[in-house]
Amino acid sequence: MEKREQLYEGKAKKVYATDDSGLLIVSYKDDATALNGLKRGTIAGKGVINNRMSNFFMEKLEKNGIPTHFVKELSERETLVKKVSIVPLEVIVRNIAAGSFSKRYGVEEGVVFDTPTIEFSYKNDALGDPLLNAYHAKALKLATEEEIEQITAYSFAVNEHLKTWWREKGVTLVDFKLEFGRLSDSTVVLADEISPDTCRLWDSETGEKLDKDRFRRDMGGVEAAYTEAAKRIGLL
Ligand code: ADP
Ligand code: UDP
Repeated sequence: MEKREQLYEGKAKKVYATDDSGLLIVSYKDDATALNGLKRGTIAGKGVINNRMSNFFMEKLEKNGIPTHFVKELSERETLVKKVSIVPLEVIVRNIAAGSFSKRYGVEEGVVFDTPTIEFSYKNDALGDPLLNAYHAKALKLATEEEIEQITAYSFAVNEHLKTWWREKGVTLVDFKLEFGRLSDSTVVLADEISPDTCRLWDSETGEKLDKDRFRRDMGGVEAAYTEAAKRIGLL
């Protein structure tokens, strides 16, 4: 597999073409942003942890019947993935109130839901990723009814698996964001990443945050939190 030109540089990853038109290489950076890009910084070693953690979970999800873009880990920061056309929705699944949910609805962080929730935002930086519902997504032709149903089913299934795998390691999965994409035959697969950048992870005993909230909220101990999360699942 040959790495070709850089196609895109995002906030956390770079994307490269390869000599196979169906495959891309993603390269994970240490750069971190929050508050719609207003807050910027670096988290040393984050790229390595996010790459390995994402691949660890994608591989396990694939074995559990959830199709993903994952092909092969190439190095500590680089992974070969299937090229998809990203469905411009950020899918957020929540088990416990936190972050924007707590703020929007006036619910204290930590309130445990009876059943998980799902919400969508329009993946559009210029608009600030506004929240939308399935009807809005259809009206804007972001996804079809069938795709939204498929994405919803996959997202809740991913939640059950991730929740279990983290629970076994003494970590509570509070919420997370997923992205999906279409392969050339238009089947929908899980894409992007699953990492402490995109999940809220709380130590089940102490409640300590092991995720990007430490960066967003200037809590310190950011690198140590990412390292601890990776250690819990045996990656370091
Ligand atoms: P952002 O674009 O939000 O700054 P990143 O820095 O993580 O995010 O950049 C990675 C980009 O690659 C994202 O826009 C993501 O939607 C996209 N992406 C993730 N997986 C794939 C894939 N398999 N095929 C094509 N694009 C992908
Ligand atoms: N999230 C993400 N990317 C985003 C927005 C949210 O990965 O652009 C993740 C975030 O890490 C958290 C979950 O989605 O695990 C829910 O985030 P929330 O809506 O509470 O937003 P925030 O408080 O980060 O603004």
